[in-house]
Amino acid sequence: MGDAELWSQWFYPGEMPKTDRSIVSVDVEDYFHAESFSDVVERQLWDNYTSRVEVNTRRLLEVLARLNVHATFFVLGWVAERFPALVREIAAGGHELGCHSYWHRLIYKLDPAEFREDTRRAKDAIEQIASEPVGGYRAPTYSVVDRSAWAFEILAELGFTYDSSIFPIRHDRYGMPDAPRAPFHFQTPSGPMTEFPITTFRLAGHNFPVGGGGYLRLLPWFYTRMGVQRARQEGLPIVTYIHPWEIDPEQPRLAGRFTSRLRHYTNLSSMLDRFQSLLQTGSFTSFRESGLADSAKDFDFYAWNRFKN
Ligand SMILES: [Zn+2]
Repeated sequence: MGDAELWSQWFYPGEMPKTDRSIVSVDVEDYFHAESFSDVVERQLWDNYTSRVEVNTRRLLEVLARLNVHATFFVLGWVAERFPALVREIAAGGHELGCHSYWHRLIYKLDPAEFREDTRRAKDAIEQIASEPVGGYRAPTYSVVDRSAWAFEILAELGFTYDSSIFPIRHDRYGMPDAPRAPFHFQTPSGPMTEFPITTFRLAGHNFPVGGGGYLRLLPWFYTRMGVQRARQEGLPIVTYIHPWEIDPEQPRLAGRFTSRLRHYTNLSSMLDRFQSLLQTGSFTSFRESGLADSAKDFDFYAWNRFKN
């Protein structure tokens, strides 16, 4: 058994209160912001693309209203500045506003000063438009990994109280496979932080991603149902996410690598049904309304990170 595994066993949430509270989040970005196309879409040319983010986000707002579910919307600062009415509509629907960076760059490719500047710009934009504080952060492409864990200190410094960017799986672009899988509370040098990892379930000694984004869209429904059930049996809240472009079969097609296109364009027309089915498996709400931050267990994230590296 490796050291990291010992830590995760010590932490393992067997003793956590069972909960049926689940979180639904939306990463509010356009189809041309997706990391899969970052090699063919230049950031400085974003304004040249036909935007679909308003129409798609409004469709999600309608579905959520019909199901009487509040969600957390992590808005890209670039989107907030261009579509302030959309930001206000989200807040008016009783949903929580969070921050999804300004330029959708991978944190581990930024230095701390660039990250601070990008994050502050996005947070300020959203807060000024909505006239309410933004407490939650979701990293572009889950790019809080071991070598970018310094980001937490900056998030606390900028006034964030929680983050939901750790994906405890192995993946080519992101992932912190040994991280705790349940929400946890920790101290950074600039203040306290709560982390809500994206949901995984255990099978044959491995963590598997379930219920969010491409996993919900591309994998068969029985996989999602089984994974969500297993995670709930462990006492984990479901933390799921969706992107507005994932429900849009009419979005303009971009050139790009074959694998990127395959991943991005598959099942766009069935995703909204999938999403609604998922929301009907439990009692979903926003991070803010879930109260889950209060029951998060203390975990010395910095000591753990030093210990394993
Ligand atoms: Zn994103």
